[in-house]
Amino acid sequence: MNFSTPAQELPRIGTIYQQRLKKLGIKTLGDLLFYFPERYEDLSRIKKIKDIKINEEACLIADVMEINQEKSWRKKMSITKAFVQDDSGIIQIVWFNQPYLSKSIRKGNKLLLNGKIAIGKEGAYLSSPSYEKINSEKELNLSDAVHLGRIVPIYAGTQGLSSRWLRYILKPLLSAFKNKIPETLPKKILDKHGLPGLEESLWQIHFPDSIESAESAKKRFLFEQLFFISLSTLQKKIKLLETKAPSFPANLPLIKKFLKGLPFQLTEAQKKAVWEILQDLEKNYPMNRLLQGDVGSGKTVVAAVAAINIIKAKGQTVIMAPTEILTKQHFQTIFNFFKDFNVNIGILTGKTDKFYSKKLKSDTIEVSRQKLLKMVSDGKIDILVGTQALIVPSRKKSAEKNKVKFKNLGMVVIDEQHRFGVKQRAVLAGALPGQPIPHFLSMTATPIPRSLALSIWGDLDISVINQMPKGRKKIITEIVEPDRRKKIYDFIRKEAKEGKQTFIICPRIEPKDPEEQKKSNWFEKIEMKTVKEEYEKLSKEIFPDLKMEMLHGKMAPKEKDLIMKNFKKKKFDILISTSVVEVGIDIPNATVIAIEGADRFGLAQLHQFRGRVGRGDFQSYCFLFSDSGAKKTNQRLNALAKYDDGFKLAEMDLKIRGPGDFFGVKQWGLPDYAMAALKDVELVSIAKESAKEIIKGDPSLKKYPIIKRRLEGFEENVHLE
Ligand code: ADP
Ligand code: MG
Repeated sequence: MNFSTPAQELPRIGTIYQQRLKKLGIKTLGDLLFYFPERYEDLSRIKKIKDIKINEEACLIADVMEINQEKSWRKKMSITKAFVQDDSGIIQIVWFNQPYLSKSIRKGNKLLLNGKIAIGKEGAYLSSPSYEKINSEKELNLSDAVHLGRIVPIYAGTQGLSSRWLRYILKPLLSAFKNKIPETLPKKILDKHGLPGLEESLWQIHFPDSIESAESAKKRFLFEQLFFISLSTLQKKIKLLETKAPSFPANLPLIKKFLKGLPFQLTEAQKKAVWEILQDLEKNYPMNRLLQGDVGSGKTVVAAVAAINIIKAKGQTVIMAPTEILTKQHFQTIFNFFKDFNVNIGILTGKTDKFYSKKLKSDTIEVSRQKLLKMVSDGKIDILVGTQALIVPSRKKSAEKNKVKFKNLGMVVIDEQHRFGVKQRAVLAGALPGQPIPHFLSMTATPIPRSLALSIWGDLDISVINQMPKGRKKIITEIVEPDRRKKIYDFIRKEAKEGKQTFIICPRIEPKDPEEQKKSNWFEKIEMKTVKEEYEKLSKEIFPDLKMEMLHGKMAPKEKDLIMKNFKKKKFDILISTSVVEVGIDIPNATVIAIEGADRFGLAQLHQFRGRVGRGDFQSYCFLFSDSGAKKTNQRLNALAKYDDGFKLAEMDLKIRGPGDFFGVKQWGLPDYAMAALKDVELVSIAKESAKEIIKGDPSLKKYPIIKRRLEGFEENVHLE
């Protein structure tokens, strides 16, 4: 028997129970042992019979003096009566409808009992207590007890799988493994951090001697998860160091010239990020850097400095953005940055068939996709901007022909989307195994809290732009109580009359279907303002004098594109939308964003919505509508109103909502307790340090075969991407 022994081969588990276990995802012995209790109940305090009070629940240890079964014909009920005694007195027990008891409990048995004292015709009695037989031969040792007389584990079971059954199964399994469970963590790490060993922890988490020892067992398991997360990311980092990348020494005169040509000066934070990136590019292994900065902090220009450095060394840069609109915006911005340089920029999206290339001091040249691809593969395009279409060519027959091939790809820049791994990077570069792969820069406005950055994204180096360009005004943020709604609508009208524009964000597209509606609670019913309903209401009743459009995820991409374009061209005043409005979209003329059902969104997301305004020179506003929460009680929305620092908000979000909201963390397959552990900066740091110590000088873990095997297993189940 070992951890991977299937549940059906374990003693006492029949087919019905196997099915029920499966529902909890428990297929093996290991799954079972690692199915941890949700909480504990302290039943360890034993009372004397003479001390227990009427109606009070109490735990006793007593010997059975007599046990009999009676049938109450009138009530069609079986009654089991017993008398038990301890050294302080005697009490009667009455069990209803448990006829088998008179067979399993015998005179002379020693019992642990837990129940309430009631008063009947014949005086006080213990009413249907739960019981556990204990070995009366041996000296009494309550840590041998399973269900009573100790701190008892309570599991989040499923129907038909009680905590009692799980205890009944788990205790003998743990006993069978006494002194046989191999330790997975090195002793020096356990000792250093005062963590209990694996076997001890498994015992203590299921059948703890004290709440404290249950806690330290739990800490050990949390630590272990974080330790393996860290090992996995550190190993990736080390592998990357062994990979080759083209080196691009910093061309300082060129960079100075580029910066001089800009209509603004870089902020200190931007300069620092530029410097960090330039140093990475000089190395002959690939940069793997995340550039974090709030919306509007100026990430694009930082990427552009890196690009110019690469271009002059005959390398190409590809910039990938999540949507067509953003791609076009980048193309335009980059084109403006490089207008005094001899740089060819191409744009490639999946949706249209037309492709452009702008060349220095000439007009846009429109080329066919084939021509553009040829220019890219000949190395004539220095910067290619594109959507996902860059790496996911259509499934058409012509797909192979339409694949992007670079001549000398030096850097991949990904804007605002999940980072992607080494493999895809190699695909983009068209690199064969063992060949150099490009440097990688990922840009995001979603701030990543420190504990997550250290652990799951620990293989990334991070640059932070924590400073806004000069002159940006703070966006005024206000939680709007229901009675002030009309005032806000008036304000939106006033702004519109002055030529400014407004975003209104709603949580859903259309009303729920009636079936779904029935299931949801009242809170959802009032809260789920939908785009379609709001559009109808606002355009007819509130703003008949203004021009309004709506936008949502079910619209065709072309339609969405057109609406965004028209909004940018000021063709209408109000855009009502679901959360699909692109993160980076630049509408400098929009000064108001109003968010319906604001408390349904995470803080980080709200902060991003807010970043859609305040891009121009005008004072901008963010209004948070929340019918459910009064201003006073709404801690999260208050935080948003108070702080404009995305990092601070992200840290708070992590504490309140857990890490599931950050990128795709939910889909990675981490166990719940690991997700919880990710909030704990201190434990994360300790785990990371320990992982470093282990892997330092022994990246393939030759000295730690057990850890190596566990890590492989971990990586099979968990996908940190
Ligand atoms: P984001 O970080 O959200 O991607 P952008 O790169 O789109 O931000 O920059 C937002 C705007 O700020 C752009 O118009 C850009 O030209 C401008 N910008 C960038 N850096 C500075 C700066 N240091 N001073 C003034 N404006 C800047
Ligand atoms: Mg951007």
